[in-house]
Amino acid sequence: MTSDFVVVGSGATGSVAAQTLVESGASVVMLDAGRHDTTYSSLIPTGNFVELRGTDSGQHRYLLGDNFESLASATVATGSQLTPPRRHVIDAVDRFLPIRSSDFTPLQSLALGGLGSAWGLGCCVYSREEMNAAGLPWREMEAAYQVIASRIGISGADDDVRPFTTADLRDIQPPLPIDKSAEYVLERYKKRRARLHARGFYMGRPALALLSQPKDGRSPSALGGMEFYSDEGRSAWRPWIAVEQLRSNSRFSYISNVFVTHFTETDDGVSVYCFDMQTLQQRILRCRCLILAAGVLATSRIVLRGFGKPSVRLPLLCNPYTYIPCIVPARLGKSMPAQDMSLAQLALFHDGGQNGLDIGMGFIYSYRALMLFRLLRETPLNTRDARILLQYLMSSLLIVGVHHPDGYSTDKYVTLEPDPESPTKDRLFISYRLNDGEEARVASRIREYVRALRVVGALAIKIVKPGHGASIHYAGTLPFSSKEERYTLATSGRLHGTKNIYVADGSGFKYLPAKGLTLSLMANSHIVARNALSSVVPR
Ligand SMILES: Cc1cc2nc3c(=O)[nH]c(=O)nc-3n(C[C@H](O)[C@H](O)[C@H](O)COP(=O)(O)OP(=O)(O)OC[C@H]3O[C@@H](n4cnc5c(N)ncnc54)[C@H](O)[C@@H]3O)c2cc1C
Repeated sequence: MTSDFVVVGSGATGSVAAQTLVESGASVVMLDAGRHDTTYSSLIPTGNFVELRGTDSGQHRYLLGDNFESLASATVATGSQLTPPRRHVIDAVDRFLPIRSSDFTPLQSLALGGLGSAWGLGCCVYSREEMNAAGLPWREMEAAYQVIASRIGISGADDDVRPFTTADLRDIQPPLPIDKSAEYVLERYKKRRARLHARGFYMGRPALALLSQPKDGRSPSALGGMEFYSDEGRSAWRPWIAVEQLRSNSRFSYISNVFVTHFTETDDGVSVYCFDMQTLQQRILRCRCLILAAGVLATSRIVLRGFGKPSVRLPLLCNPYTYIPCIVPARLGKSMPAQDMSLAQLALFHDGGQNGLDIGMGFIYSYRALMLFRLLRETPLNTRDARILLQYLMSSLLIVGVHHPDGYSTDKYVTLEPDPESPTKDRLFISYRLNDGEEARVASRIREYVRALRVVGALAIKIVKPGHGASIHYAGTLPFSSKEERYTLATSGRLHGTKNIYVADGSGFKYLPAKGLTLSLMANSHIVARNALSSVVPR
């Protein structure tokens, strides 16, 4: 049997593409590795973090993990923020998506919902200059941003960062309350606004895919602080919510536990090669149009195999990432609120050039629900003393995560190489190095951030470089191109060299703005799905 569309992947991009297709009347089969949590989510009682810490005798299971897996990963490495109920996000990745690299540690996912099962919900629109640089059609993107915002529900404020977050989007829900440290810093920013604007800094409330009002059967956030552990009330938008909804539609089928390896195309359609992840038994599915949304790194593997030239080098983009832990002296030793959320409290954008390009993004977090053990190794003290000190510091601690934009260079690429141990008999080799100019720009921006944070009352205590790949923002392996060249995409999302194979994830972006990319990934995926629809003639 041949289906109209096969979508590979159930993440932010796959779920959007499938929804757009199904809503337009097409029939869709979603192929997905589909790992999911079977242990922890059912153990988490309703309630906020502070209450559960005080009352739940089973809390160690979901806070630390049955095998203390949270303690083992308590470093600043990529993915260390994944709590036991979110660790299924990386389940089976080492086996099925092996990597060799000495300078890049990405987070890949084979989960139902992909990386979106753990994403921090930060939403941003790209400026027209950023969209042009990325190769995205800005008129269509602006309309698509609205479609996605209306689907997922975004809360945010009408403040100084709105041009960077929701810009002209409509139906944005009011922002959720922030905590005392964030309030203190924001007040200082307001008093010193002119000085900070002169340095290119803009502070305000981040736009989050977290509801502050009811929407489509989902509840507003109860400010429980458990966002790193549970999806209570579906207040946070995660891709699995869209997939679950699609599964009630007769035009949609979801096949999980399958791993897609490659494709072939003939005049009659596309054959999608995959295998059962338990038995490794091969299956071939036929469709009229294939939409790849497996995430940038996984899609590059499928395309390299599909074109039969695994050793071709594909370029790679990834936002360099730096953490700046800060102390707000005015908040030392103060009490912390019982109700709070764990996601970004504030956003601090750096637009030094004021030309819509080369903008830095800082997200400011308070620290509590991720627990102090994750920070112990970062202090120069022994564990016992460090715990006491951190307990006292906690109310004044802010963690600022700064993303920097990224462009192409010859030192950033991926390619497939043989690996007899892996089920696919290959692994991805990744090279990612910043050149001197890029290193200097990152260092200079960080110095600017440290100064700006001091102005708002937050003193940097350390600069932490978690290593390349830690931003979890990847793009650019199959750049958009107007030429019909292999390993590039048409602006429609069609893979050059094919007729009916489209790529709906971030593989086409030719420049990676520092702003959280996922809202743009979803908007692009909606556009790609519509382009794919118009290329497939109804039967
Ligand atoms: C902790 C964390 C915080 C983040 N915070 C933010 C944020 O605040 N803002 C922001 O913009 N972004 C954030 N991100 C990044 C965001 O999650 C990703 O950009 C986004 O989820 C990528 O979606 P995707 O659909 O392109 O790919 P993925 O999420 O990687 O989904 C890939 C899908 O494809 C499937 N798949 C992969 N390979 C195969 C295969 N061979 N066969 C079958 N199925 C396959 C997987 O099962 C999965 O369903 C964060 C990520 C993490 C982990």
